[in-house]
Amino acid sequence: MGFLQRCVARSLWPGRRTLGAPRWGQPQPQIQLPRRLYAAGIPGLQERTLIAVKPDGVQRRLVGDVIKRFEKRGFKLVGLKLLQANEGILSEHYHELRRKPFYHELIQYMTSGPVVAMVWEGYNVVKTSRAMVGETNPAEAKPGTVRGDFSIHVSRNVVHASDSVETAQREISLWFRSNELVDWDCCDHKIMYEL
Ligand code: UDP
Ligand code: MG
Repeated sequence: MGFLQRCVARSLWPGRRTLGAPRWGQPQPQIQLPRRLYAAGIPGLQERTLIAVKPDGVQRRLVGDVIKRFEKRGFKLVGLKLLQANEGILSEHYHELRRKPFYHELIQYMTSGPVVAMVWEGYNVVKTSRAMVGETNPAEAKPGTVRGDFSIHVSRNVVHASDSVETAQREISLWFRSNELVDWDCCDHKIMYEL
């Protein structure tokens, strides 16, 4: 099919994203481009963040509740693991807080039991998940947020959420190897984003 015919075909079927070229007088091929391919053109759809249920949250069996909130909101889980974090990973993770008076207690708390680390994906997930998690100090966290619903004191605030897209990228590569993250198509993707 020549260039001119392709242009006419495109103007006749502008919404169709098909792999094969249309043939005159025949039904249009229905082969759709993989969703990931055409979603790639929409900025921010594949933003990712690190969410971690801290040792107090795991001990208090809040893992399921945290996951449920992110699932119900519409975000996509692309990584998940339960691990006993060591001082090495935590000193990198909390690098910016190393001079704070609470730093050593924070490391003690974070190594006191297992952590559930997760990577969630979706449009604006970093900003939205910070809002879902609530203020650092539970006394200031609004009801309806994870911290506002399940915690009282700043030193036991149940959950971690990356605070910027750049921090999220750094934290994800600190907690997960690339082969531990799963790139998959979620069946409600089109409904969520009206693509
Ligand atoms: N933290 C603490 N005391 C404080 C401030 C922070 O124990 O006065 C702990 C708390 O667990 C918090 C973590 O340090 O979640 C990291 O602090 P950051 O300021 O990064 O807050 P976040 O990003 O977790 O809201
Ligand atoms: Mg922080």
